[in-house]
Amino acid sequence: GYRSRSAYKLKQLDDLENVLSSGDTVVDLGAAPGGWLQVAAEGVGEEGRVIGVDLQRIDDLEHDQVETIRGDMTEERTRERVRDAAGGEVDTVVSDMAPNMTGEYSLDQARSLHLARQAFETACELLGSGGDFVVKVFDGPDVSDFRAEVEEEFRYVRATTPEASRKESSELYLIGKERLTAPVREGD
Ligand code: SAM
Repeated sequence: GYRSRSAYKLKQLDDLENVLSSGDTVVDLGAAPGGWLQVAAEGVGEEGRVIGVDLQRIDDLEHDQVETIRGDMTEERTRERVRDAAGGEVDTVVSDMAPNMTGEYSLDQARSLHLARQAFETACELLGSGGDFVVKVFDGPDVSDFRAEVEEEFRYVRATTPEASRKESSELYLIGKERLTAPVREGD
């Protein structure tokens, strides 16, 4: 079985927009306890690689192609560790990062959007041309601006709430398909 109910969300997002393919390298941000890592590992198969990052420790998975990093994605040193682990361009960046909930919606929503922006920056650093991006964000006032920024970097963007998301939640996922430009790296 999967470690989280969230696993089914990634399955549904992948069914919708095909973001996981055999042999891919996938970076999963906010990966604990590891449900998305399990789905990603199945999607990329034994020839693929999955790198998961979270503030929390992630118990080892039975999949050999999964590597985990414990760190804060809002810190540059964590992003550097992720870049090192990837060792080059990646095919897909997914983020299910969510803040600790305070219950005050506007604060939680702003924090969620901040994490989504961090994920987007990381995606822009790591994704090669044609790469895909999935990011969770709580719906709210600045989401349309964020979506517009993502749209500039991908061939198209789709917003969706998977069936597996709780009815009462206001989370949505943006899927950026096919990164338009390859990242410029030092030395190029
Ligand atoms: N997709 C996961 C799964 O299927 O098991 C569930 C992810 S859970 C909804 C959100 C995660 O985001 C939490 O584990 C939390 O620790 C992580 N998170 C929140 N802020 C973070 C940050 N700044 N850096 C890394 N991870 C973060």
